[in-house]
Amino acid sequence: MLIHIGIDDTDSPNGMCTTYIGAILYREISKIAEPLDFPRLIRLNPNVPYKTRGNGAVAMSFKIDEEKIKEVKTLVIRYVRELADIDHENTNPGIVFLIGEVPKELEEFSLRALREHVTIEEAEHVARKVNAEVYKFKLGRGIIGGLAAIGYPLEKFTYELLAYRKREYWGTPRRVIKESVFYADKWSYPFTYDNVDPYKRTVLITPHGKDPVLVGIRGIDVGKILQVFEMIKIEEPIEFFQVYKTNQNTDDHLVVKKIKDVKPYDNVVIRGKVAGKYWEKGRHVFFELEDETGKIRVAAFEPTKKFRNYVRKLLPGDEVIIAGGVKEFEGVLTVNLEKFYPVNLVPKVEYEKPRCPKCGGTMKSKGDYLKCKKCGYKMEKILTPVKRPRDLKKKIYEVPPDARKHISRPLVLPGGEDKILEAL
Ligand code: ATP
Repeated sequence: MLIHIGIDDTDSPNGMCTTYIGAILYREISKIAEPLDFPRLIRLNPNVPYKTRGNGAVAMSFKIDEEKIKEVKTLVIRYVRELADIDHENTNPGIVFLIGEVPKELEEFSLRALREHVTIEEAEHVARKVNAEVYKFKLGRGIIGGLAAIGYPLEKFTYELLAYRKREYWGTPRRVIKESVFYADKWSYPFTYDNVDPYKRTVLITPHGKDPVLVGIRGIDVGKILQVFEMIKIEEPIEFFQVYKTNQNTDDHLVVKKIKDVKPYDNVVIRGKVAGKYWEKGRHVFFELEDETGKIRVAAFEPTKKFRNYVRKLLPGDEVIIAGGVKEFEGVLTVNLEKFYPVNLVPKVEYEKPRCPKCGGTMKSKGDYLKCKKCGYKMEKILTPVKRPRDLKKKIYEVPPDARKHISRPLVLPGGEDKILEAL
């Protein structure tokens, strides 16, 4: 028999991590039943407001003898009850059990949870239809992620090795030797990636919160990931580690849309024209994009740092393809840029004063006429148009690694351009 287990919403900013509980469960259940694959870490819609960090849910599947099912269920419920940060007001754990093959309907629900907003009631409705058993703690919102993680059609995937800290170290600074991470990254990139931010010279594999994660190493090659883990110098004991199969860095969330169809929480790819000059507010850079169906605001927020410089180079009339998540920002529906591709750039023309036709000297503006600084010659103010080079390349621009969403695909990976090119 097959049993699928999904869990979510066990953590809070004060601690815990659903992957930690998942890793313990995977180890414990593997003593009773046969795992079908790695456990899964499924990132769902990055725009939903309830998330603690990256909106991740966990699922795992086993081949099991029927008489062992009850034991497994009891074990899962016990661990979630014991380990979840249940007292936190925004922690609403959910557990889901599904016996047998995963029905198509659940797959469809997963993709909705990835791309839209869904309600607890909708999750309960789907659970009843597919005969999944759900356990709700408090509001039980975690059943949304639990169901979606089980049903997710993980056709494209990457891996993440997560190593966990001993309890007495939780909340203390993580002692990982920076140089060793840069060295391991250089050796394995791009088979493992996002280990470091090469521009800021910072380490990205260590989180900063009170959660039990010590390091997370991402990649497309499990062998290389394990070797990187070996190469990194860590100066604190490791409790255990687990490799997860995940939809991180797949761009699965993005859907090509016309502006009139864009809704809050969407993750969209839009082809359109820059409708006006960019503007800035609070270090965020904004512009308006239009297509034949309407207009929408687009933002490169402050954490995207140097990426904003490329956005500042866009001119009204430029044809671009943009990708990003949709949220209300200051009451306006705004696409939070992840990538953009300048498809056609308008010429950049600047107007210059001519040289003095008499002596070749420089002319000065005097109201509506020009006067030579050298010989005093006066003439009507007629400026000369000069074509300037556009310093944007015809390539896809992406946000830097530390501003990238878990689910967004870096361009260095095969297929990192695919979703943008779908709108070409
Ligand atoms: P971490 O990444 O550290 O595990 P998190 O960011 O995953 O934390 P959670 O505490 O799991 O945050 O909270 C996310 C909540 O949002 C869960 O209850 C999950 O079921 C729910 N959820 C996930 N996707 C959607 C969606 N598309 N619509 C509505 N709710 C969702």
